[in-house]
Amino acid sequence: MKGGSHRYDLVVLGGGTAGLVSSGAAAGLEPVQPRIDFTRVMEHVARAIATVAPHDSPERLRAVGVEVIEAEGRFVAPGRIETAGRTLRWRTAIIATGSHPVLPPLTGLDQAQALTTENLWDLRELPPRLVVLGGGPIGCELAQAFARLGSHVTLVELADRLLLKEEPEASALIADRLCSEGVDIRTRTRARGVHDGELLLEGGETLAFDRILVAAGRAPRSAAIGLDRVGVNIDDRGAVIVDDRLRARSRGSRSPTPRSRASACPKRRRASAGATA
Ligand SMILES: Cc1cc2nc3c(=O)[nH]c(=O)nc-3n(C[C@H](O)[C@H](O)[C@H](O)COP(=O)(O)OP(=O)(O)OC[C@H]3O[C@@H](n4cnc5c(N)ncnc54)[C@H](O)[C@@H]3O)c2cc1C
Repeated sequence: MKGGSHRYDLVVLGGGTAGLVSSGAAAGLEPVQPRIDFTRVMEHVARAIATVAPHDSPERLRAVGVEVIEAEGRFVAPGRIETAGRTLRWRTAIIATGSHPVLPPLTGLDQAQALTTENLWDLRELPPRLVVLGGGPIGCELAQAFARLGSHVTLVELADRLLLKEEPEASALIADRLCSEGVDIRTRTRARGVHDGELLLEGGETLAFDRILVAAGRAPRSAAIGLDRVGVNIDDRGAVIVDDRLRARSRGSRSPTPRSRASACPKRRRASAGATA
């Protein structure tokens, strides 16, 4: 078929022993639906995490000269952090406490044993019906993963498209792909509450689920680390307010930026983590 567009599943180049054996074997294959052992998949994920963990381990940092204290710390006064019964004095501090998943205030959600990216990895049984709340990058990637593993996935998103921070074309591409992989996408859909294994939607529809995965955004972990004790300002989301060099203003810190210049800075940015005080 000269110039034809027929696409073969397999082309064998060469008719020697290898070509004959491989083409004959491949021709005898029947398409089958793969059976996925979810428990083994998740155990593989756990092993992969355990394999890379040493690269980020306290031991590795200690080996390069970092004193690692494995305890919760908080600012107690300008130039002071308290942790593990000790007070550490500092000249510069980096706030790198990260973020946590946000659970939206839906009635009944606290009783629903919701999954988030914190506890998802402990799952060992595939939920036959999974509702994913939130169509950002995390919601989309996990919806796709669970659909491929065999769950019937419904993805609920309040906005009129997925991946709101991306270009509309990118949203459309991802939505098409997820649909083709069997994900039931509900955009412009507001969740109202959870009751008895069902997500209640505005307008009265309900979605029955075995597990619900909440991927509705993350919030900076800044509430309990004593930022008020050092005069570091946060915005209404809890993100540390920083200048365009990721420096927070703090009481008593020796910031190289004079206060007047910092406060006049037109470009005040927010950082969920990684600010210096
Ligand atoms: C499912 C998922 C997929 C992702 N995929 C990607 C991706 O593909 N690419 C990408 O770039 N990013 C991805 N991200 C985002 C990425 O994981 C984060 O950007 C990154 O982890 C942020 O690092 P961090 O050090 O700021 O915070 P974290 O990794 O959250 O670390 C903060 C640490 O601070 C500790 N801590 C908190 N409070 C205290 C305290 N008071 N005292 C002492 N320690 C404290 C916490 O225990 C934690 O260990 C993904 C995130 C998720 C959840």
